Amino acid sequence: MHLVVIEDSPGMAAALGTGLEEEGYRPRVFASGAEGLAAIESHAPDAIILDLGLPDIDGIELLRLLRRQQCRAPILVLTARDAVAARVDALNAGADDYLIKPFAFEELLARLHALLRRAAGPRWAPLRFGDIELHAAAGEVSFDNAAVPLSPREYALLELLVRAAGDVIARADLLRDAFGYDFDPGTNLLDVHISHLRKKLRGAKVAIRTIRGVGFVLQENAS
Ligand code: CA
Repeated sequence: MHLVVIEDSPGMAAALGTGLEEEGYRPRVFASGAEGLAAIESHAPDAIILDLGLPDIDGIELLRLLRRQQCRAPILVLTARDAVAARVDALNAGADDYLIKPFAFEELLARLHALLRRAAGPRWAPLRFGDIELHAAAGEVSFDNAAVPLSPREYALLELLVRAAGDVIARADLLRDAFGYDFDPGTNLLDVHISHLRKKLRGAKVAIRTIRGVGFVLQENAS
């Protein structure tokens, strides 16, 4: 598994590089956003670990840039900022998960592993509901003769909703099965991703309905 790590703190960068190598990953570590971006463009990695506080470019800007360039690798963000707003900004900009510094290396490994597992996806036939079809290998949803790329988390969420085939799924179940949280992380993480999915499903004949205080359900539109 090829990883790109963008982290300007020398101590943290060295620890991540060494630790990930020992775990069998092949990390390339860069101290600036520009170097990291160039490396990602020249050889697409399987996942990206990105520090938000970089010397040359704001990490959030870099995230947006990568997603605009159709970079589909899962992105795990490292942030020293403990403000909820910064984390939500990162998720909105296309991050799949985040860790707040300081963190245990084991936790980083667990999050990374979960992201890579979800990105790999199942290899069987496309899942369908209403007029939408999920394509695991491409990480896309298609409807109306067009394909829309999804982030690994968006894909995981939509897959759960499609598999439930019209049944309500509880928030806690979505957090556990799509994000790997056994607890409520105390943010609007789930709502942010559901909102992204709704935008991407605009024009499809299905809709994600909120069941207040319970969870979400995918339904077919009458129209
Ligand atoms: Ca930094």
